Amino acid sequence: MSKNIIKNTLKHIKLVSKHKWLVFRFSCRLGIPFRGLMHDMSKFSWEELSESVKYYDGKISPIEKSRKINGYSKAWLHHKGRNKHHDWYWVDLTAPEVAPIIPYKYVAEMICDKLSASITYNGKNWTNGSQYDYWQKEKKRIIIHPKIENFLTEVFTQVKDYGIDKTITKQNIKSLYQKYCIQDKTKYQYEFHGEWKKVD
Ligand SMILES: [Zn+2]
Repeated sequence: MSKNIIKNTLKHIKLVSKHKWLVFRFSCRLGIPFRGLMHDMSKFSWEELSESVKYYDGKISPIEKSRKINGYSKAWLHHKGRNKHHDWYWVDLTAPEVAPIIPYKYVAEMICDKLSASITYNGKNWTNGSQYDYWQKEKKRIIIHPKIENFLTEVFTQVKDYGIDKTITKQNIKSLYQKYCIQDKTKYQYEFHGEWKKVD
């Protein structure tokens, strides 16, 4: 093994561990410590680790880098199929419920993951509004049940307005989930508009 591979492996594991630690701290606050402990474990599998080391960059994620170079990322396809805290885990374009309502413990883990990633990537520039701003753009690129989208928008708005300590509590997040995902009886149906166009 070359020196670079060892260096990149260690750097990548350090980054993943830092992320996992922050996710664990948030997940304890939301009453899902086990989810926090198991968070992103598949990143240590060969399929994900090998690509992350190969495309380690330090500035952008290795998944992003592989997408740029290869057009897609094998590590991501492996990751999203195994980790229920990702919206894409739940998407099935051939199912009657294209994107179902994700159960509480996984959306709660998703919140911990998104906040942790936002804090890690923004570093010193992170503010209470960072994740809210990112979510405004992200929600347009994903397929997620509108009730989950409304719930997450409310959570990140509260983080922006009141901060993490006041917002990220088991009681608050559970009651918001109840309000937006359980008590809201609106019915939604997904409309697919996938189209391909030829390019030169
Ligand atoms: Zn993940």
